[in-house]
Amino acid sequence: MSQFFAILLPLYVHWTFGGAGNEWGYEGEIGPSNWHNNYPHCAGSRQSPVSIRMNEVIVDSNWLGPFTMRGYDTRDNVCMHLENTGYTVQVNIQGEPISITGGGLKDTYLVEQFHFHWGRLDQRGSEHDIDGIHSPMEMHIVHYNAKYKNFSEALDKSDGIVVLAFLFEVGNHNDHLDHIISHFEEIPYRDNHTLIEPFALREFLPKKLDIYCRYSGSLTTPPCYESVTWFIFYETIEISEEQLHSFRQDVHQNFDNGTITDISDDFRPPQPLYKRKIYCSKKEDD
Ligand SMILES: [Zn+2]
Repeated sequence: MSQFFAILLPLYVHWTFGGAGNEWGYEGEIGPSNWHNNYPHCAGSRQSPVSIRMNEVIVDSNWLGPFTMRGYDTRDNVCMHLENTGYTVQVNIQGEPISITGGGLKDTYLVEQFHFHWGRLDQRGSEHDIDGIHSPMEMHIVHYNAKYKNFSEALDKSDGIVVLAFLFEVGNHNDHLDHIISHFEEIPYRDNHTLIEPFALREFLPKKLDIYCRYSGSLTTPPCYESVTWFIFYETIEISEEQLHSFRQDVHQNFDNGTITDISDDFRPPQPLYKRKIYCSKKEDD
């Protein structure tokens, strides 16, 4: 019987998705509500993102202390590779290890890459929301547990991945973002990539990192492994309308069937919290 399905399942997937097999996206038949057909973990009970309702969080300032960040403030011996993955723009990081610990973590986690999710309109784009308010963009700095050999080995382990998530707010021009935006013309389509001048990651982040919330969740893209400890920071990063426009217009997604669209609206909607709790270091600036 299982052999029968082993033969039929790939055929079914082939017919349904026009030959792409495991192709997924953010709209239509291959959108988030159907991811679980090909990626069963996406229907799990500890999925991300989630809505953070501030009147339901648990404040634990003793457990959720400050982070210790190593290598975040230097660009020496760091190699940064900017890539259009077709789903986002991503900076892959190699070289001198950059790490975090603290925030109630038992282990040290090494930076692998960071990437963005953004909307076609200012009212949407972020994956996480606070009290129902979505930001126009969200940045994820993805780390893996140093006790595993590499990122791929850590990806499906329950303590494998830590993501630091930062929400954006429309405002002044952010010079630091130009390190990335200025290279968009070199990565207009999926799989385009280019080396960029490295910069210190800390430059990108807000000043105050002591107010944040933490919960257990998943990758927000297939295969949706429930391997991520999430940290969502309260202070936002500024970005100008003009810079958001570059994200919306300059990088594209080209599907296997030949369609080309912009990458905008590359966010998964909030998932049910079920039995999980969200813990915060403080409620807000006080
Ligand atoms: Zn992400």
